This record gives sequence, structure tokens and C-alpha cells, in this order.
Amino acid sequence: MFTKKMLISLRRKHLPFTIVKISSRRELIALRGACNTILLKNDTIFSLRYCRKHLLLILASTNICFMKKILIVVATLLVINNIFSQPLSDTEKKIISYINQHIPDSEKLLADAVNINSGSLNKAGVKQVGDVFAREFALAGFSTEWVNLPDSLNRAGHLVAIRKGKKGKKVFIIGHLDTVFEPDMPFSPYTRLNDSTATGQGASDMKGGDVVVIAALQALQSLGLLNDASITVYFTGDEEKAGIPTSVSRKDFIERAKTCDVALAFEGANGLNSVATARRGSSGWKLHVTAKTGHSSGVFTKGSGYGAIYESARILNRFREELSTEKYLTFNPGLIIGGSDMQYDEKKSKGEAIGKTNIISPEVVVTGDLRFLTEAQKESARNKMRAIVAQNLNGSKATISFQDGIPAMEPTEGNNRILKIIDQTTKAMGLGATQAGDPGSRGAGDISYIAKYVDCVDGLGASGRGAHAPGETINLKEFPLLIQRAAILIYRLTNPQ
Ligand SMILES: [Zn+2]
Repeated sequence: MFTKKMLISLRRKHLPFTIVKISSRRELIALRGACNTILLKNDTIFSLRYCRKHLLLILASTNICFMKKILIVVATLLVINNIFSQPLSDTEKKIISYINQHIPDSEKLLADAVNINSGSLNKAGVKQVGDVFAREFALAGFSTEWVNLPDSLNRAGHLVAIRKGKKGKKVFIIGHLDTVFEPDMPFSPYTRLNDSTATGQGASDMKGGDVVVIAALQALQSLGLLNDASITVYFTGDEEKAGIPTSVSRKDFIERAKTCDVALAFEGANGLNSVATARRGSSGWKLHVTAKTGHSSGVFTKGSGYGAIYESARILNRFREELSTEKYLTFNPGLIIGGSDMQYDEKKSKGEAIGKTNIISPEVVVTGDLRFLTEAQKESARNKMRAIVAQNLNGSKATISFQDGIPAMEPTEGNNRILKIIDQTTKAMGLGATQAGDPGSRGAGDISYIAKYVDCVDGLGASGRGAHAPGETINLKEFPLLIQRAAILIYRLTNPQ
């Protein structure tokens, strides 16, 4: 009988193909329990998986004829896969072994950075993390500078590390120094929970991603592979709460990115086989409804009308009915306030209301967000919302205003070209194929500000769970592999074949 133990021993032998002949359904069911990624059809088990650098195929069946057919299809796929993925070169193998030898240093750097509180509003803390990283960039042969922001923005500024050269693509690398955890929140230092997980504020979002960048660049530098490469690393100090207006806080960031060809952002990775080639943009809206007021007994009549609360309910419900099923579009009313007398303070996102049940409400304010994948989708949604708002109930009047926030990183051919290089890299590393993640699963990020100027990929940083919440973790098993992926990707971009 085929057991899990047998499966492990097959993997150890690195057999590329394993064909298991079995005679009964009982054996088939036992084998199915032993492996997990399996298709079951015509009493046939089929499992294809990467195990370190080897592709392992397990095929088991009681039906020999069907098994032969599958084998031909798979053999063809394997040939295609090998033709299109470049194997690791000797230099790339050296990069991997350098990174593996220096993992303890990388984890130490991560712990040091996590243990400095750098909430977006803790300017001294953000600067201190910047200083720690600047020292590391110097070791990778980069010159660094600190970009200050005007005092009115109340943010620490940004760290920029630069190497100038002429070889290959001009690469722009994005990270951020700040976290969502401000000093007045309970502090949790870097702590290993077990051999594959550690916790700490910003462990994966995104001090882990910053260390992926630094460890990858230091490996390339120590092997002399950055000579004549052109790389700008930009670690912003206010990603989680950008200084307003962003036309000021992101001005230098955008200008420098425009001089590059490719942008790689190291926000949290979603495992080893997915990156972001698109991110949704975010924006805001404010609905303001006014209406005739009067005694509640007159509501719905021609003379008194419906009041502001019914009108706002109509509008919100129509938004939901007409727009909620559109892919990648979301809009969430975050605050609603209304009554017979109300005040709303926009700066504090705060309001007060008094209402009596026997008074028809004269005023309502609703504020919300709107997330979208393309500018065209944003504009179309806004037009539909305006049209709904305009169909006022008797006795009421409503207006809606929109505020632009972070633009979308739209899916483009250029982004897909970088995805292809990453896909070839992970295949060559024996990690399997890489696919574009679901843009709906990510919010907007710094890369979105520059997406229309350069080819972009995000989600290259550290993997983990619970970003933005106490107890955020980093996956330490995937950490070395993500550093290797980053280093080989940067190497391939700056050293075209
Ligand atoms: Zn982040």
C-alpha cells in the first residue's frame, strides 16, 4: 500500500516521475490520503508538485489506458515548461548560497528594525529605522539621502538609496519605514513563536519586505553583481498614513520613479507563487442630502415630502442594487449622520445629531470610499452614482462630491512582462510557477502613484499573517526563498541575457 512515508522517500530521491500501478480502489483511496494536490477521475490519481528543485509527478490508476493518455499530455507539458524556463546559472546558485549563509544576519536586522517603534506619526522612530537601513545600504554600495517634508505635513520624510549605472533596466525599488502601530499602542517586540513564525509590529508589513530588499542587494553586491547597475531604492516614511497633500508627500517619489524602467514593490507577499500586477485605487465621496422639515404625521405627503433620511436610504440602496456586483468595484458608506439638527466635522470624521421621532429630518451626511481597478471604472461608477443621486424624492435635494485618493495600478502588458521574468525565476528555483494575484484582494499602495509611468509589480516582500493587527506574523520558512527570488529577479533585470 502507498503511504505518506513512501511519498516522502520518493521526494528525497528526487524522482521526476513516479508511476504507481495499483490494483484496487482501496489502494487508490489510501494514496489519495497520502498526497494532497490531486485530481481524481476514472479511478486515477494525479499529483504534480515541485519538491525543492525537482518536479514530482505521481500517477496512479487501476485504468491503464486512461493512465497512458494522461502521461502523454503531462510529458508534453513538461517539455514546454522546460523550454520556456531558464535554469539557474552558476552565478545565481552562488547568490542563493550567499543568502542562505546570511539568513541569521537578515533575521537580526529584522528584529532590530521591528523593535524600533515607527508608527507613521512617530517621526523620530521612522527616522531611526531609516538610519538603521541607511547603514545597511551603504554596505551594499549605495549612497543614501534623507528626503525631508515640509513641517505642515507632520511626517518624518523618506529614505532614498541610489546606485547609478548603465547596465540593463533602471530599477526602482519600493518599501516603507513606518507601520500602523503608534507609540501609544501596546508594544510587542520581535518574538519567535516557533521555527517558522515570528511576530512583532511591522514584521511582515513591511520591515520584513525591507529586509528582503536589503539582504538581496547585499548578496548581489558581495558577489560583484551590482557593478554598473542602476537601482533607486525608495523607502517612504508615511505609507500607512501619507502626509497630506500627497502631491507634496509623493512629489519626489514620483519624479525619481519616472526616470526608471521598472518598479518593484516589497509589500507583503502572498506565498511563493503569486505577485500583484494590479492594485485597486481608492477614493472618497460625500453625499449631502437636505429636505423640507415638518411634523412627522405629514411624511410622504405632497406638501411635506419624504425627508432627508428616506432620501439618503433610497440613494444608498440604489447604489447597492446597481453597482455592487461589478467586479473590482467596491464602495462603502463609512459614516451616516442625520436628524432634525446635525453637525459634521470633516477633518475629524466626526459628527453629532439630535433627532426627534416626530420631526421629518432636514439633513443627512454620508461619507464613504470607492475602490476601483481602472480610471475608466472609477469614472463610470461616479457617473452612475451621480445619476442615482439626481432622482430626488419629493421634498428633498441631494448632491454628491468625490475626492481622488490613490490611483489604481492598472493591469498592463508591461507589468505582465515582469511577471513572466518572476515566473521563470521561481520555476528555475524549483518553486513552481508564479501567477498574478487577485487585484481585489489588495488595497492601494505607494506603487500606485507611479504605475502609469513605469512597469510595476508588487507583493514581492515577506509573507505573513494579520498585517495591521496586533500579533502580525512573518513566515520565516518562506523568508529566505523570498530573498532569493528578489535577488535573482533584480539580477536578471539588471543583467539582461
Ligand atoms: Zn505596507
